Amino acid sequence: MTDAARIVVVGGGAIGCGVAFQLAEAGVTDVLVLEKEPALCAVTSAQAAGLVGQVRSSVERTRLAMWSVATFSRLERESEVKPGWRQTGSLRIAQTPERVKEFHHLIDVAHRAGLEVTLLDREAARRMWPELDFRPARAILWCPTDGYLQPADLVASYRHEAARRGVRFRTGVRVTGFRKKGGRIVAVETEEGPVGCEYAIDAAGAHGYHLARMAGLDLPIVPVRHHYIVTTPTGNLGPEMPVLRLPDATLYARAEMRALLLGGWEPRALSLDPRSYGPADPLPPIEEDWPVLATFMENFRPFAGPLADQPVRRVFTGWPTFTPDGRFVIGESSEVPGFVCAVGCNAHGVSGSAGIGRHLVESLFEKTPSAYVKSLSPDRFARGFDWAEAERAARRVLETYYAIGH
Ligand SMILES: Cc1cc2nc3c(=O)[nH]c(=O)nc-3n(C[C@H](O)[C@H](O)[C@H](O)COP(=O)(O)OP(=O)(O)OC[C@H]3O[C@@H](n4cnc5c(N)ncnc54)[C@H](O)[C@@H]3O)c2cc1C
Repeated sequence: MTDAARIVVVGGGAIGCGVAFQLAEAGVTDVLVLEKEPALCAVTSAQAAGLVGQVRSSVERTRLAMWSVATFSRLERESEVKPGWRQTGSLRIAQTPERVKEFHHLIDVAHRAGLEVTLLDREAARRMWPELDFRPARAILWCPTDGYLQPADLVASYRHEAARRGVRFRTGVRVTGFRKKGGRIVAVETEEGPVGCEYAIDAAGAHGYHLARMAGLDLPIVPVRHHYIVTTPTGNLGPEMPVLRLPDATLYARAEMRALLLGGWEPRALSLDPRSYGPADPLPPIEEDWPVLATFMENFRPFAGPLADQPVRRVFTGWPTFTPDGRFVIGESSEVPGFVCAVGCNAHGVSGSAGIGRHLVESLFEKTPSAYVKSLSPDRFARGFDWAEAERAARRVLETYYAIGH
């Protein structure tokens, strides 16, 4: 072996770095993160809008998001390298009676999880976003501890804090395979030679499928296109304004400094079969899809006030991965001991990164991981699956992202 580490993390995006940080926090510091690109946070994480939302439809998912927020707040307070966490709060707007009913369910879940949320009237919301027309709102849900951050700043903060505790990071090194002994992973193969390890963690994002394949596993990690626009700056927006979610219009928005960032979930998503590109191939480029982006702007129009005609300055796009059941894949495979998953981000891998890292630590090192953590295991796909159906189901997760009960 040219090198060795107890744990090798493959992939230096938000999830790989979040996992490395949580391992280090748990006292597991003999960790090496390998990233094929010349820099960390170079692929999907670089494109993310950085929204961090905690209001979820189950107590477990809410608590995972709360763990992330607690981590971001602590890093912002204590680290020399700040994650740029802006705790602006968030406003979620209901336009239909069914959605209002859902809000009451979400409030109940939030309160059971210990998350502060409350309903606001239109006037209170308008004071926070004076530009917007809140007349179509039938209910407005306020979560004061939500917010957003810049993914590159978060990754820099994770790196700093993990490295300070002894974790090593190497960029420009591609993992090409695994060595096994008696069926168990004993080393990661790289372009520069093998690295011995006890555990290899797959945090390779849209190449997560390929890493699993190299280890001998078939996992339905499906990249599905996601995109948002950023407008030119206007005088009336500012970075302190809350994040907006308009689930009935399938949109989210926030201020990006003085510009508007607007993204959405289209009803006909575009996915990739990961078997159609190789482990060393770059991800297929994404053309700006103006017909779909125009529907985001149209759907926003009833709220937009003077923002409706703000010119678009830039489009951000990428291939976040989705799983057929819309849940993260976290934990060690029983089929390939030593191979550990941290994949299937379902478009909230930046906000989920600290919670994912925490759950991974629990799954590997705690005697009795919770039933929820166990349910995220890659073993749930061990009986096989139909690829066409898996891809369709993964697309559906994006298409119904803001559907009631999602
Ligand atoms: C337009 C857009 C908006 C988004 N908005 C949000 C948001 O607001 N909030 C949120 O939480 N999430 C958001 N997401 C989702 C978020 O970006 C992803 O969930 C997250 O970035 C996934 O992180 P990752 O570390 O798994 O993937 P990546 O950032 O892609 O990292 C994986 C890394 O693995 C490396 N790698 C792959 N193969 C190898 C190999 N063989 N050897 C070594 N390294 C390898 C890659 O180079 C890459 O750097 C958004 C995504 C997009 C595209």
